Amino acid sequence: MEIVVLDKLSDKLIRMEVQPKHTIGSIIETIIDKQKLDKNKSYKLTLGNQSFGRNQYLLSLQKAGIKQGDHLFLEAEIVPEIVPKVKEVTAEAKPEEKEAEHMKFCVECGTKMKWIQQYERWYCYKCHKYQAA
Ligand SMILES: [Zn+2]
Repeated sequence: MEIVVLDKLSDKLIRMEVQPKHTIGSIIETIIDKQKLDKNKSYKLTLGNQSFGRNQYLLSLQKAGIKQGDHLFLEAEIVPEIVPKVKEVTAEAKPEEKEAEHMKFCVECGTKMKWIQQYERWYCYKCHKYQAA
């Protein structure tokens, strides 16, 4: 049977002789080869309001309901990227965290003290004195 696929990326019409047992994936692969499309991308075939993407690559044309003379679209499939969340704790960020967590005020003058990581002590810039953590 013959189907017609409009490759939306190059705007070209491709007539293909296919078998009902062919899979969605094999049709897409054939078009990728023919049109020299980027193999690292995912594509989907669209028929009316039905879309067949990478999760349907093993589906046969018959099971997908694609028949002789059908007109389909080939489009790039947008697959959401999973970005791993990496929590970085830098040496600089640590004292800031500690300062934010336990704010300390000088017992003598009441000024907000600064945590000095190097000495692991609080420092009052007004009195020029250290205070234990
Ligand atoms: Zn002070």
